[in-house]
Formats: sequence, C-alpha cells, structure tokens
Amino acid sequence: MASVPIDSVRELRQVTVLPRGNSTTGLDQVRFSIEFHIPSATKKCSYKERVVKASVSDQRSILDIQNFDFTTTSLSAKAAGLPEIAAINTLTIKQNNARDLRIAAETELNDVKRELNRAETDVEQVVSRINRDETRLASGTGAAKELEQLQHELVSLAARRAELEEVELEIMMRVDGIKARIAELSGEESALAAEIANLEISKENALTIIFADLKAAADDREKTVASVNPELMALYEKIRAGNNGTGAAALIGNQCKGCHLTLNTVELQRIAGLPEDELVRCEECRCILVRGL
Ligand SMILES: [Zn+2]
Repeated sequence: MASVPIDSVRELRQVTVLPRGNSTTGLDQVRFSIEFHIPSATKKCSYKERVVKASVSDQRSILDIQNFDFTTTSLSAKAAGLPEIAAINTLTIKQNNARDLRIAAETELNDVKRELNRAETDVEQVVSRINRDETRLASGTGAAKELEQLQHELVSLAARRAELEEVELEIMMRVDGIKARIAELSGEESALAAEIANLEISKENALTIIFADLKAAADDREKTVASVNPELMALYEKIRAGNNGTGAAALIGNQCKGCHLTLNTVELQRIAGLPEDELVRCEECRCILVRGL
C-alpha cells in the first residue's frame, strides 16, 4: 500500500467507526495506522510492515527463532568475554615485559663482557711486564741503578696490577649479577608461557563447547525459519534490527516479555477480541507479541 499522509489517516479515522472512542492521541494514530497497515507519518515503513496475519504455528516459530537468536547473542558474548581471554592478555603483557627486560639485560651483558675483556687485557699486559722485569732482575745483568729502577717499577706495577684486578673483579661481579637477572627473567618468561599455554587450552575447550552450541542454535534456527512465512520472517528481522535484538516476545498475563512493560486493560481487551492469527505488536517496544502461551 502506498504511503498515506497523517491527515488522511485522521480523516479516515473520523469516518471509520472505531471501538475506542474518538481519542486522537499519537499512540492511537500509530495503532490505527498499524491496524490498517498505513505507514505512520514520521516513520516510513516498508512493505514488510504490512504483515498482519500469521498462523499460530508461525507465531510460535517466530518466538522460537527469537530464543535461538537470544541464545546466539549470549553465546557470542560468552565467547568474547571468556575470562581466559582477559587472563591471557594480562599474562602476555607481563611476558612481553619480561622478554624486553631480558633482551635489555643480554645487551648489557655483551657490553659488560667487552669491558671485562678490556680489563683482562689490561691485567695481562701488567702481568707480562712484571714477568719481563722480574726475569731481567733475576738475570742480574745491567747496571745497579738500572736494577734499582726495575725494583721501583715492579713495586708500582704490583700496585697497578692490584688496582686492575679489583676493577676486573668488580666487572666479573656485574657479569654474574646480569646473568642471574637474565636467568630470573627467562624463568619468569617460561612460567608465564606455560601459564598462557594452559589458559589457551582451557579457552579452546570453552570455545569448542560454545561453538557447538552456536552451531546447534544456528541449525535449529535454520530449520524453523524454513517453516515460517518469509514475509513474517522479514518483519521479525526488521523489528529486531531496530530494537536491540528483540523482534518478538510472549505476552504473558498483561506483560510484554520483550520490554517488560504492562499493557493497559483496554489494549488487553482489544487484543483478546482479535482472531488468533492476527499479528499483535507491542505498543511500547513494537515487537511481535505472541499470545496464548
Ligand atoms: Zn514490549
């Protein structure tokens, strides 16, 4: 049906005998336009909004499909929000930090090892000079003054050697400290890797179960959809897309189970008077209301 301006709706309403007095509230206009399949003035509706009749079985099926969709949404949220995922992320950050610190320590170790090599060379040079001087001194050759000079030199060389060996020792201690730090960080990395691997297994196990449930819900949904009038299905999808995932809900007592709001007595009476294959929509959330449950 072509779009009808709201004025025409009012006009129609005035000439049509309606059971609900002569109220012209916005809600009544909407209700009127829906009942008569006239798109509202503010919201253009597609042809799909024109679905007004649906077999009881189709209505029940739509509710089943809604439940499969809720199941799918909650399972997807469960998969995305698995505690293992958050824990893996936290531990991976820790693992990366430990790895970065280890790499930095390894670089530092290489630098300090070069420093140690230089210190060892310094010590070796002094030691070989001492050996050479001692050999010359032991040979007893040379002038007395020269031998005396050698003795003086040996004294200062010994002091120098002690100084250099102290430096060497200090560097060796630094090497040991860095090696210990690297070992500690490597151990930390391994422990975190093991913990992450366990969590990955646990996550995969949880996901396997969730995916199986998702597959089951998708299969059941597909079977149910195949049995439902495609126009009704399209209407359901359209409402669901614009209503936070709720396209159909049961009417239990006087409550719409979609938005949990209660219907007033007049509306309930109107619905009660409708044939069972008349498609009812919630005035609040616009979802398809399924009766007789
Ligand atoms: Zn509702």
